[in-house]
Amino acid sequence: MRIFDPHIHMTSRTTDDYEAMYAAGVRALVEPSFWLGQPRTSPASFFDYFDALLGWEPFRAAQHGIAHHCALALNPKEANDPRCTPVLDALPRYLVKDSAVAVGEIGYDSMTPAEDTALAAQLQLAADHGLPALVHTPHRDKLAGLHRTLDVLRESALPPDRVLLDHLNETTVKPAADSGCWLGFSVYPDTKMDEDRVVAVLKTHGLARTLVNSAADWGRSDPLKTRRVGDAMLAAGFADADVDQVLWRNPVEFYGLSGRLRLAVPPPQAPGDPRGVGGPPLHEGNSILRGGE
Ligand SMILES: [Zn+2]
Repeated sequence: MRIFDPHIHMTSRTTDDYEAMYAAGVRALVEPSFWLGQPRTSPASFFDYFDALLGWEPFRAAQHGIAHHCALALNPKEANDPRCTPVLDALPRYLVKDSAVAVGEIGYDSMTPAEDTALAAQLQLAADHGLPALVHTPHRDKLAGLHRTLDVLRESALPPDRVLLDHLNETTVKPAADSGCWLGFSVYPDTKMDEDRVVAVLKTHGLARTLVNSAADWGRSDPLKTRRVGDAMLAAGFADADVDQVLWRNPVEFYGLSGRLRLAVPPPQAPGDPRGVGGPPLHEGNSILRGGE
């Protein structure tokens, strides 16, 4: 089973997670920009984070045989903090980078006017840069949040077939599907959608334009939830080709809209078997290899 996790925050995950993900079939992922838990106090904090998503984390993922891409944005929660919003002016110089395959995650947290402004501005940035957008739908007031998101989308320059609406559930999937956007389901260990509920939705709504992600981060989450959905699909009678469509071909097609996916990564390195000639590869002078020279 080959797996592309279209939404996972590897910054907050360990090397063990990378190894377990590779063993489960994960070969590619997209890491969207998000809130760090601790509020940022200046745009400079975003710049270091964006650089890590563009440089360090792809380097780390590649050592475990996984192709890493990112989505860059001012996240919905920090769109409300005037110390952070100037990052919007700097985003264009990051959105031209090769491994930035979308603008995201954007959308609503508390549905404030500041969030309206940031969402509209970043949909325009996506349109200007020829990138698709990953749009987070709020965890509270889900249906109202979705409708407000769709209103802003309709007024934007970005067509719905370049938008992935994420964190959908049974109450939001129908209007989301009717909008023409791509559909994302985040699968969590004990809240929101679980794998059986996702499989039930797939049976009802079909597989077209549908993606499944772990959205794993610092909270209670599981980076192997994509694999567990694949297994649940097979147990429910879906074919291998159906699983491949949801877990690989659909995310490849969506993020492929950027023209920037690079999916070929060599298999992981064995300990003591550093890649490259003349010693282990370095990222800005740093190696995370252990057990080698
Ligand atoms: Zn997220």
